[in-house]
Amino acid sequence: MKAFSYVNPANERDAVRALSPEHEKAMPLGGGQDLLARMKDYVTQPDRIVNVKGALESTVTPMPGGGLKIGAAMRIVDLAANAQVAKLYPAMIVAAGEVGTPQIRNQGTVGGNLNQRPRCWYFRNEEFVCFKKGGSQCFSPSGENQFHAIFGNGPSFIVHPSSLAVPSVAYGATFRLFGPKGERMVPAAEYFTMPTLQNVQRENVLAPDELLTHVILPAPGAVKSGHYEVRYKESHDWPIAFATVLLTMNGNTVGAARVVMGAVAPVPWRSQAAEAALAGKAINEQTAAAAADAALRDAKPMSQNAYKIQVAKTAVKRAILNAAGLNVPGTRTTL
Ligand SMILES: Cc1cc2nc3c(=O)[nH]c(=O)nc-3n(C[C@H](O)[C@H](O)[C@H](O)COP(=O)(O)OP(=O)(O)OC[C@H]3O[C@@H](n4cnc5c(N)ncnc54)[C@H](O)[C@@H]3O)c2cc1C
Repeated sequence: MKAFSYVNPANERDAVRALSPEHEKAMPLGGGQDLLARMKDYVTQPDRIVNVKGALESTVTPMPGGGLKIGAAMRIVDLAANAQVAKLYPAMIVAAGEVGTPQIRNQGTVGGNLNQRPRCWYFRNEEFVCFKKGGSQCFSPSGENQFHAIFGNGPSFIVHPSSLAVPSVAYGATFRLFGPKGERMVPAAEYFTMPTLQNVQRENVLAPDELLTHVILPAPGAVKSGHYEVRYKESHDWPIAFATVLLTMNGNTVGAARVVMGAVAPVPWRSQAAEAALAGKAINEQTAAAAADAALRDAKPMSQNAYKIQVAKTAVKRAILNAAGLNVPGTRTTL
């Protein structure tokens, strides 16, 4: 590992001062599970790391108007056990509780989880200089692509690795960012960015000298939520596909729906087709399956990942049934 200096600031202002306007020079450190692994693999080689655990909040605070504000230094294990979040945003609790293993949840922070870099094996291997590392290609279309994107059409085919990103987008969260010019508020749906040839090295709009300090969740109203993840049998690995679904009921039928999928695209992938398919319907096996079909209709798999279409359909269908309070076979399905 390349030698680096270590800064331990006491507040967000000092933390930002220790960052750099240049990408990858000075990096925030949460639980370190992603950053330190990338440093050991020579994928990221910063001159300085800035521990943000003592600089950022790690608590949940009620917001005026009924929402909640989650500090980015909160550990995933604490988020998963938080009663206020459980009451208002149950899908967030399920997502947090399914991240990796108890050790990973114990160490990982909300800010680190949302900003972790892709798990693509080409990106993580120093031998492959892909788009994300300043190269001129994504190796997955002609290579090993069984876990890569089925939506988005490249040019990079990573899937966003954060489980917390998907319910954040579904619940309409806003991220508070803090940088040298002060704070800015960015809706979660606009924080995560689709790759273009101009920005392909990044997954979000965060500047190199900014921090994500809070996840602000708006009052959810009378929404019902469901979250469902499908992963390999007995695996601690990231899900193959997953979905968060929110339903606002109008009596027995759906007044409005929000369907967001994870692990299928470079960003949390909202399906307005699935939402339209649910509107005005009573929820049952057939209507949930029809919405799941609509959600995956435009998927474009590569040579080895067409199987993800059925997996994602299952995740969407079961998240819908789960949101409607209907019986689904557990929240953790294995392949
Ligand atoms: C076997 C295994 C299974 C896993 N399964 C899952 C899973 O199912 N779902 C899932 O979501 N994750 C999964 N993970 C990943 C794990 O959850 C993340 O690595 C962890 O949450 C990252 O949090 P951290 O605090 O350790 O991040 P760090 O490693 O400290 O940081 C990650 C990145 O975010 C940046 N960063 C940290 N804090 C901030 C901040 N406040 N503002 C801006 N940037 C910041 C860092 O500079 C770094 O680039 C898995 C990991 C392993 C090893």
